[in-house]
Amino acid sequence: MNNQQLISFILPIYNEEQGIARLWQELEDLQTKIKNYRCEFVFVNDGSKDNSLAELIKIYENNGNVKVLNFARNFGHQIAVTAGQDLVQKSDSQAIIIMDSDLQDPPLTCLDLITKWEQGFDIVYAQRSEYKSNLLKKIPAFVFYRLLRKIASVDVPVDTGDFRLISRRVNDEMSKYTEKARYLRGISSLIGFKQACVQFKRSERFAGKTGYTFLKSLHLAIDGITGFSIFPLQLISIVGSIVAIFGFVFGFSYIIYSTINGHNISGWASLMSVFIFFSGIQMLMLGIIGEYLGRIYIEALNRPLYTVDKIWQR
Ligand code: UDP
Ligand code: MG
Repeated sequence: MNNQQLISFILPIYNEEQGIARLWQELEDLQTKIKNYRCEFVFVNDGSKDNSLAELIKIYENNGNVKVLNFARNFGHQIAVTAGQDLVQKSDSQAIIIMDSDLQDPPLTCLDLITKWEQGFDIVYAQRSEYKSNLLKKIPAFVFYRLLRKIASVDVPVDTGDFRLISRRVNDEMSKYTEKARYLRGISSLIGFKQACVQFKRSERFAGKTGYTFLKSLHLAIDGITGFSIFPLQLISIVGSIVAIFGFVFGFSYIIYSTINGHNISGWASLMSVFIFFSGIQMLMLGIIGEYLGRIYIEALNRPLYTVDKIWQR
């Protein structure tokens, strides 16, 4: 009986068929370098439309420490990771490493994560010191992480994705957070405990193309903001007050102007542009309320987070 502690890896997969073989090669290499622990690898196939599942089953058949969970359809990256976390809940893992499957999160960085965990940190997140990606992804990501940090009620580290190690007790705690719109890095920061950071260079994806379309990334960003801050709601009152003050000053100046000059100011075009501008602002503000309302609605429905097609495990 091997009584070494177990480290579980959670690897969400969406259309990664071209990269899986190489990923597994690097994970096997990593495994030879992890001396004092047993490892298990949990692949969550998030409704891939290519041959990813067949590739994963091949790996499963040749390796005793691999599990494959297949979703009934695409549920999204955050839900795939959550399903992995639920599955490792049933094994006796003492540490859980969450990483992307496109080799943007270099497997060897896990050695640094493990070293920090051994020093007593419960959450060790990997922070991008260098990020190779196109500017259309980089700039919004840069702004978003900093904005979230300013307005969120929790200390979410900047330039940090989901690549991290969490201890068993953090995984247990995270399973108590049952919100449907899941922003995992926010939840893990909310939990507390001792947290440390390891720097790494994020490279380009090894093969295939990103599963995070612009809309998916925007959704995740909105989940992050609405899940951890009510500042957008407060913003409505702030904008409302500023506009009201502006309207008052404007009206007052108009009365003085027309009293002194004795005639009305005409101008259909200016009136229309002001009218349209403020209609837009009002709709934007209604949209913000709608975002929160929609989230309350989704929570009230309380549907299951995901549907599992099949789990391959020994
Ligand atoms: N992914 C997923 N479901 C999705 C989209 C992505 O499980 O709907 C996985 C994907 O296979 C990868 C990780 O989530 O392992 C990160 O996705 P991706 O590399 O496409 O995002 P990016 O790095 O471009 O932000
Ligand atoms: Mg990627």
